[in-house]
This record gives sequence, structure tokens and C-alpha cells, in this order.
Amino acid sequence: MPHSLSKPPVYRFAPSPNGLLHLGHALSAVLNARFAAETGGRLLLRMEDIDLTRCKPAFEQAILEDLAWLGVPFEEPVRRQSEHFPDYDKALERLKARGLVYPAFLTRGEIRAHVAAIEAAGGRWPRDPDGALLYPGPERRWGDGQREDAVAAAMAAGRPYAWRLDMAKACRAIGQPLTWQETGIGQQDGSGDKRDTQSVIVAAPEAWGDVILSRPDAPSSYHLSVTVDDALQGVTHVVRGQDLFQATAVHRLLQTLLELPEPVYHHHRLVLGPDGRKLSKSHRDTALRALKDRGLSAADVRALLL
Ligand code: GLU
Repeated sequence: MPHSLSKPPVYRFAPSPNGLLHLGHALSAVLNARFAAETGGRLLLRMEDIDLTRCKPAFEQAILEDLAWLGVPFEEPVRRQSEHFPDYDKALERLKARGLVYPAFLTRGEIRAHVAAIEAAGGRWPRDPDGALLYPGPERRWGDGQREDAVAAAMAAGRPYAWRLDMAKACRAIGQPLTWQETGIGQQDGSGDKRDTQSVIVAAPEAWGDVILSRPDAPSSYHLSVTVDDALQGVTHVVRGQDLFQATAVHRLLQTLLELPEPVYHHHRLVLGPDGRKLSKSHRDTALRALKDRGLSAADVRALLL
């Protein structure tokens, strides 16, 4: 279900306040602002702070200051995901009601041990597009009633479990080929900085296996909250780094299952560090603050990016 074309486009920049903004974030923010300005669109800011242990108010403050310095205007109020857990829970309840999620009890260590045993015997075990082991999902094979009993027993024993999407069942439930509209990578100059053409990408969410939608230490996952929020905020255009290209398949699946509108996606090139790897919090020199402290102006930073 595409968005209505009669309203102005809605863009969003959605950083996680678990560190300082670096050049990669700056490219996302600047492209969002540029596309919004070029199309008479709106630009929203969302703090993706569901990881309550790693996200800190001080980082949120630093992000606001860095965006102001960079000259990226956004609409108030800022949406903080940590203030909207009931919204994500409602979506999870809908998936539970359709029997598309299940309580998953294996710890990370147990998953690793399970796979190690298979691989030691010469077998192969699939990894997701980020390289993580797919969840074995022994709970999927439980019979009727066992699930409720196991959850009740786990709760009584205080044993943690996560809610995972039953990927195969979810893919069967939508019963249609899943695609998305992409205006970013795949462009002629390969940079994803321009939006000349739109291509249809075939989504393959199966590659992610039974993704986590809620866990004991975080009541919602990235995939669930990003999907729900993009819909609740009326986001029509998602502009973000290429590292999230494959994750879009999961977002399209959740949108379809939850009957949410479909944004257009634009995945832009990544800004790489001097070691040729994607920038991360460990590349301290490319934090916007560090560049500012070295005397670069916001215009210098923009010139570095575009
Ligand atoms: N919060 C994510 C990040 O900082 C971005 C999510 C998105 O743009 O969809 O990497």
C-alpha cells in the first residue's frame, strides 16, 4: 500500500543516541535534509533509544548540538522510541494473535553450542546478512498447548525468553512476492547521493531467519520499532545507509503483516574510515565533534561528503 501522493513527502533521520554522530550519520542527515528541501517535504528526527543501557541523554544532547552545527533543520517534537513501548507492544500483540511469533528460550551460548556441534560433524549452518547465526527454533516444533505451558513455566521460574518471528510462517502468510521501491544504490554513479531512477528490489526476508521482535532486556527490537514508527510518523521516504539495505526486507515483511503503508527507500553509500571499513564509534577522528575541534566548519564537512 503506497502513501498518498497529494501530501508533502515526509523524511526522517533516526540516529541511536549510543555515541557521537560521525561522518556517516552526517551524510544521512544532510541527504535527508536536501531531499526534503528539494521536494517541499518535511524532515522529522527520531531518537532510536530502545537499548536503554547503551543510549544516554548526553549523547542525545550531543546529537542535537551537532545537527544544529551542521545546519540540518528538523521538525519538533523529536520522537523518542523509549517513550513509545506500548505502540510496539500493540504491534507485537497483533502478530501473536495471528500465531506468527513464538517465545524463544535459547541463549546466545546455547545457539552457538548447537551450531558448533552441527559444524563439528561437517554440517553447515546459515548466517544472516549481518553474519549472525540463524536461530535454530526448536520451539517451532512444539505441539498445541506446549507453547502456553512453556511460557507459563518460564514466567513462574523467572526464565528469560524473547519473542521471535516465525519467518517461514510469516512469509507463507503474506502469500505474495515482497518488493520495495529503491532510489538509492544501484544508481549510475554508485553513490546513492542522487535519485534519478527508481528500481524495484525483490525482498528476501528469509535470509534473516526468525528475527527477534522483543527481548527481556529491550521490550522492542530495532526491526519492530523502526517499522511501527515509520508508519505512525507518516514517513514516506526512508533515506539511510547501505548497511541497512538487507534489513529493509524484514521491514517490508512487517509492514505487510501489520498492514502499514510502504515508504520509498533510498540507501546511500557508506562513508568509510581510513582502514576502508564502515565508520563506527571506534573511529573517533571522524566524529563531527572531533572535526569541529580540528577547526573544520560545517561547510567543510558538507564539502567532504557531497
Ligand atoms: N537507528 C539506526 C542507526 O542509527 C538507523 C535506523 C534507520 O535509519 O532505519 O543506525
